[in-house]
Parts: sequence; structure tokens; C-alpha cells
Amino acid sequence: MTIVRFAPSPTGRIHLGNARTALLNYLFTKAHNGLFLLRFDDTDLERSKEEYALDIEVDLAWLGVKPDLVLRQSQRFALYHEAAERLRAAGRLYPCYETADELDRKRKRQQAKGQPPVYDRAALALTPDDRAALEAQGRKPHWRFLLEHRTVHWNDLVRGESHIDSASLSDPVLLREDGSYLYTLPSVVDDLDQKITHVIRGEDHVTNTAVQIELFEALGGTAPVFAHHNLLVSESGEGLSKRSGALSIGGLRDQDIESLAVAALAVLTGTSHAVHAVTSLEELGKDLEPSHISRTPAKFDPAELAGLSARTLHALPFETVRDRLAAHDILGYKAEAFWLAVRGNLSTFLDVVTWWRIIEGEIEPVREDLDYLEEAGRALPEEPWDENAWAAWTEVLKSRTGRKGRALFHPLRLALTGREQGPELAGLLPLIGKLKASARLSGRAA
Ligand code: GLU
Repeated sequence: MTIVRFAPSPTGRIHLGNARTALLNYLFTKAHNGLFLLRFDDTDLERSKEEYALDIEVDLAWLGVKPDLVLRQSQRFALYHEAAERLRAAGRLYPCYETADELDRKRKRQQAKGQPPVYDRAALALTPDDRAALEAQGRKPHWRFLLEHRTVHWNDLVRGESHIDSASLSDPVLLREDGSYLYTLPSVVDDLDQKITHVIRGEDHVTNTAVQIELFEALGGTAPVFAHHNLLVSESGEGLSKRSGALSIGGLRDQDIESLAVAALAVLTGTSHAVHAVTSLEELGKDLEPSHISRTPAKFDPAELAGLSARTLHALPFETVRDRLAAHDILGYKAEAFWLAVRGNLSTFLDVVTWWRIIEGEIEPVREDLDYLEEAGRALPEEPWDENAWAAWTEVLKSRTGRKGRALFHPLRLALTGREQGPELAGLLPLIGKLKASARLSGRAA
């Protein structure tokens, strides 16, 4: 059984880059009939906020991502304490007392000598008496994980055969002086506990992978499969940040961008697939493999979103939008024909409200060329009308008046819709119906 997790820290709203990670996980696991866990990485109790967690759930739901389970790491400290205890007992977690300043000075000395700034493990040499003396001074330990100093290999589903020499890394701090956890230990403990099979995440985490694999093994487990995807960057190469709020999912929703357009841009950018409009998440996930993700940064242009969103609308089947239309009181026997008539003309979904009003409500017709409109009113065919009524009507008008092109069509559009432009009249005319059409042609509000 495939089980993946999306593990945001609830310290802000999620943005397009986070959506990429969430969706790559979701589409991957759904393609394998697997499970998707939403796991809030909220062990930083100061910075994490419940309201952000709730916003993230709303944003994911809007994107169509439905978690099979929602977890909060802040409720699982007992497990992390127990794991830390096991590591201590096995000699893999050791107390260190250096202050941030002392560590900084060490790093500067190493750099001056041209050495890599790797922690020198001085704390391993402390005797129980040394520690007691430090603690008597009021110092509290932070705890580091003792790495094995070996070459750690993994087969990354995006990046292929990968390896990191853990001797090139500092033993990572798992617990701070105040007893709080950094992300590493809770993440690995939970990945084991929740039987995560695949960790799909941004390539900014590649450097953590060797440490985590050693930690999985130190805790008696085996590491999941990793897939590190490239990150979304602007044309100028800038990354996205939660703090700036740029391209937040909530913000894009407020701009009436279609969620499927956001998903398509977030997922397909920087893959071997061209960015294109899709009508469902299944379609987006079809034929998409982690190996299709490129290793170079995923450059995208946010200005593409509006166009992609419009193209998405133009292709959406009625079933997909039925409830959204109903929410605007667009329902009943005309709703489907209405959608099919107008969708190709929409910039944003809310444009439907205007067009429904034009069809069902009253408009002030714009009348140019009154004689022609009188003639047109007399030539209206008998109902029932289908999509051929328009062609039949305008053929008659063409032969009676000798008009063609714009002179033939445009006055009719203005009178019938009150607008210069809009969806094909062949689709609109049967929806407007003869009664309204005839009134509008003769200048009566209808
Ligand atoms: N909270 C981490 C992040 O959002 C999770 C990283 C991971 O997936 O392991 O970057």
C-alpha cells in the first residue's frame, strides 16, 4: 500500500510551490490507490498557529486534495520522547553544551584554516564530571545525533542514484536546550509510525536525506523511497516564500483563478509535459511519473495563470461545474445548455452571472439600425429553437436585406444581448427564446 504525507509547518498560508509538493504527493498516491496524509509539522509551538493549519486544509480542499488522515505532530510528543530515549540508550544521541557564539567561533577558525565547518564533536570527550560542572553553571544541553560517517546511498525517483558522505556533515541537533524538537526526529519517527512508503518533497531537502536515512536505521526501520522535486522559481530565478504571501493559494482563489489551472501550472511546470489546461486532477495525474520531473529549476510565469484559467473553463464539462452554477442560482432545464453556450467565452467563472442575467433577466437592448431590427423581428423563425435557429434566421435576413458579415450580425447581437461581444449567438438565441428576442429587437426592455 502506497502511503505519502504532505508535512507543512502551519506558520503561514501555502503558496504555489507548496501546492506543487502537495499535488505531486496526492497524484502519485492516487495513481497507486494509496493514502495521502496531511501531517502538520507544528512542533515549533511558538511559530505554529492553528488558524494557519485550518487555512491550509481549506486551501488543499479548494485544490481538490482530500487527505485520508490529518495529524498534528504537536499531539505526538510522547513518541518523540521515547525515540530520543532509545537513541540515547544506543549512544546515538549525545549532549552538547556549546553556546551559539562558541559554535560560531569554531566555524570561523575552521574556515580560516580552509576546513569545512563541520561540528568537531568536542562534546563527545566530556566526562560525567565535566557535564556536571557545566550544568552547575546553569548550562543546559542540546542533543546531537551521532552520524556514522559513511556514504549514504538512495535511489531518488526524480534524481536517480544519489549519495552523500555523512562525514561531510555536522552531527545534527535533534533537540534544543529548551527541550523542543527540530523537524528531523519527529519527521522520521512519524514516517516510520505511519508507514510512509514515499517521501516526495522539494529538493531543498536533499541535504537532509542522508541524516534521515541514518536516523531511520538507528530507530530500527528502513527509509522510505525518496523523490526530490525541483522548486518553482520566477523567470529571474527567485523562489517563493510563505512569508511574502506571494502567489498564496488563498490569494489566487480570491483572484478567481480556477483551481485546476493552479494545479496544472504547479504540477506540470518543470516536467517533460507542457503546461496545459486539464478538466480534472485524474487527467493531470495520468501518465505523470516522478522521473518526468526535470532536475533544473521549474521556471514559471505567474502571468500565464489568467490565460490557463480561462482555457480551463472553456473545457470544463457541465457535471464538473453543476454545483458551482447552482450556487449562483443557475439551475433548471436551461443550465447545461447555458454552460455549453457561454463557457468558451469566460475569462473567470463569475462571468456566468452576467450572461445568465442577459438570458434570464431583463436588459436594456442597444438598438442601432432600427429598420433592420424591425425586419429581423418579423423574420424570427417559429419555435422550438435549437442551435440551428440562428443560422436559419440570419440566412433569411441575408437574402432579404443583402447584408453580410458585421452589418448582418452586429446589430442583432447588440439588440439581443446589449453587449458588443460575447458567446456565439447560435448558442444564446435558443436560451433567450422568441418572446424576449422579439421584444428586444423592437426596443422593449425584456
Ligand atoms: N515541514 C517540512 C517542509 O515543509 C517537511 C519536509 C519533509 O517533507 O520532510 O519543508
